[in-house]
Amino acid sequence: MLEPTRSSACRTRLAERLGARWDRRWYAPNPGQANGVESDRLEPQKGMNTVTRPRILVVGAGFAGVGCVRRLERKLAPAEADVTLVTPQSYQLYLPLLPQVASGVLTPQSIALSLRRSKRYRTRIIPGGAIGVDLRSKVCVVRTITDKIVNEPYDYIVLAPGSVTRTFDIPGLTEHAFGLKTLAEAAYIRDHVISQLDLADASDNPAERAARLQFVVVGGGYAGTEAAACLQRLTHAAVQRYPRLDPGLIKWHLIDIAPKLMPELGEKLGRSAQEILKRRGIDVSLGVSIDKAGPEEVTFTDGRVVPTHTLIWTAGVVASPLIGTLGAETVRGRLAVTPEMCLPGHDGVFALGDSAAVPDLAKGDGAVCPPTAQHAMRQGKSVADNVIATLRGAPMQPYVHRDLGLVVDLGGRDAVSKPLGVELRGVPAQVVARGYHWSALRTNVAKARVMTNWLLNAVAGDDFVRTGFQARKPARLKDFEFTDAYLTPEQVRARVQGEAAENP
Ligand SMILES: Cc1cc2nc3c(=O)[nH]c(=O)nc-3n(C[C@H](O)[C@H](O)[C@H](O)COP(=O)(O)OP(=O)(O)OC[C@H]3O[C@@H](n4cnc5c(N)ncnc54)[C@H](O)[C@@H]3O)c2cc1C
Repeated sequence: MLEPTRSSACRTRLAERLGARWDRRWYAPNPGQANGVESDRLEPQKGMNTVTRPRILVVGAGFAGVGCVRRLERKLAPAEADVTLVTPQSYQLYLPLLPQVASGVLTPQSIALSLRRSKRYRTRIIPGGAIGVDLRSKVCVVRTITDKIVNEPYDYIVLAPGSVTRTFDIPGLTEHAFGLKTLAEAAYIRDHVISQLDLADASDNPAERAARLQFVVVGGGYAGTEAAACLQRLTHAAVQRYPRLDPGLIKWHLIDIAPKLMPELGEKLGRSAQEILKRRGIDVSLGVSIDKAGPEEVTFTDGRVVPTHTLIWTAGVVASPLIGTLGAETVRGRLAVTPEMCLPGHDGVFALGDSAAVPDLAKGDGAVCPPTAQHAMRQGKSVADNVIATLRGAPMQPYVHRDLGLVVDLGGRDAVSKPLGVELRGVPAQVVARGYHWSALRTNVAKARVMTNWLLNAVAGDDFVRTGFQARKPARLKDFEFTDAYLTPEQVRARVQGEAAENP
């Protein structure tokens, strides 16, 4: 369970350390305000006629939300509707490249794509997070980054808040594990891993050295596999600069409860990925999870106790807790929607991306689209078209997209890819992996930054510098994802009704 008091103190300290104070404050739970002490709506920009124009509210600026907003801006005349975006950050994060930020191949800024790059972007942006939606009154409750709670009425709402790390009731997990879902986490993990080398180097205690040089990654999907592979390369290269350290002591473990790594890759390619990891000395254990986690050791379900200060947890995702505040039907936590991405029984409510169970019509058999960037990006465009169709009284179209395959960058020349079913390994797979991500980056400036970083890293390597996130108190999974910020459906209703009574 999360502890609100301790974790809010941690959050503030951590956010200050990361220099991201403003982006994070919306998460801080503040029950007094949640009960309706502050209730004003953020005022739209000057000159907007909000009386007659329909209001479209998009929640979340990820692949799905930004894809939708950009399409609305392009296809809707300004007089047709007002578009508002609720987002805690001022950027869209290109999540698939997070392992490369954690391992220092890319700088954090290169995968944070500004939402204000062009003057053509006319959407009003509310800096904050949605903490509840009242479907009956058509009001979204938002906690701004200054911790003010505001009610935002809408005519159409597009829910794209993505997902959070899925955790289980494993003792010590949320206190001692790192996730890999945010930019801050990626930067923090890099600092943490380098600091383990520094601390091991400075220690004369053999047991401490051994513990600091063991690293555990849980989750054999693309996030965990890429993280283990890229971070192992980081420690392998960094240890050359520590003459006092025995490289043989560095040990990476990648474990997953499933019998195979990345089953989407198929039998042969999955085996190739596993062989690459083994060749690099990464210990892969399948059919294994963790029993408990502590500050200095992790116990596996097969009974092994691994002394370590590093547990990276990437064992799946669940829809954002915002979905739970709607009180609507869900499929494994994701909002149940039609192929047009509409919420049945509620006009003008759309959901997509990781937070919605969108039927996968290309696969059929009742399948839902997997939580991938590929689907989220395309659903963003499709949902914008459906919002516009609804506004203009035209028929909506179902979402259909055939999966283009998977690319897995294991660092350096190592990669496996399966574009359109073609199995690739090594350099050709790496070219496809990097080419795919590079072309999927939304802005030219991001493309230039990423390409420059790749070239610089290939030519000059890494200096393995810690940027100072590691102060005395370590931050873990529960300090980054703030899942305790949301209201219950009853609190949302009470808040919205309270405001209606005050302003009849
Ligand atoms: C390490 C890693 C590697 C990955 N690699 C791949 C890959 O190689 N290929 C692939 O296809 N997919 C990959 N994925 C998955 C992919 O990134 C997600 O499926 C995709 O980001 C989902 O898009 P989305 O728009 O639904 O959510 P996101 O992109 O996560 O965006 C959600 C946005 O909503 C914001 N938000 C959250 N809560 C709220 C709230 N309450 N109010 C307002 N805003 C909110 C968030 O800050 C975020 O900006 C990877 C994921 C990770 C973590």
